[in-house]
Amino acid sequence: MLEKRCIGRSDEFGVFSPESISEDNLVFSFDDWIQDEMDGWFTISPEELKKFSREDRLKFLRYCYDRDFGVIIGTLDWDRAKHLSNFINHSCEPNLIYDYNDNIIAARPILPGEELTLDYGNFIVNTDQDFKCSCGKSSCRGHISKHDWKKLAYVYGYHFPTFLHPNLGELFNSEKSMAVGRIPAISAAC
Ligand SMILES: [Zn+2]
Repeated sequence: MLEKRCIGRSDEFGVFSPESISEDNLVFSFDDWIQDEMDGWFTISPEELKKFSREDRLKFLRYCYDRDFGVIIGTLDWDRAKHLSNFINHSCEPNLIYDYNDNIIAARPILPGEELTLDYGNFIVNTDQDFKCSCGKSSCRGHISKHDWKKLAYVYGYHFPTFLHPNLGELFNSEKSMAVGRIPAISAAC
């Protein structure tokens, strides 16, 4: 049974596992958390988000995530953020990762008492994040940008939400064709 715990300020939470979790085990199923977003959640474009008041923008950004390029889902009512998955914090070296079907699984064996973390660069493609990351990992990127997924593709492969899979395919194919393009040049030089 996972636990939501307060970390730092009274409105700052994290999700912890009192028990160990084996690598690749299902931790959050997409079908489960999406049920909690039927009520009080809505989708908007990044342009619509820019028109929000500063107060509403900050409220919406707290729990929102991207469903596609140009499509952000979130809520202005924090009481509507009920599912535990809403409280997973970011780490640049997370212990959770997406599988290939929008579920979240353990990226490695997780020890009892560990906080569960996900790389927000996995699902952020529309807006740069305001917060400064202080995960303390050697690979810490400092900030989470909407372009991080292009670099992270070489770390996580297709372990991203499914809406990104076509873009990842294009990215990997363009790399391959660039590599193929270089081969004749090298051969000619020989
Ligand atoms: Zn970091």
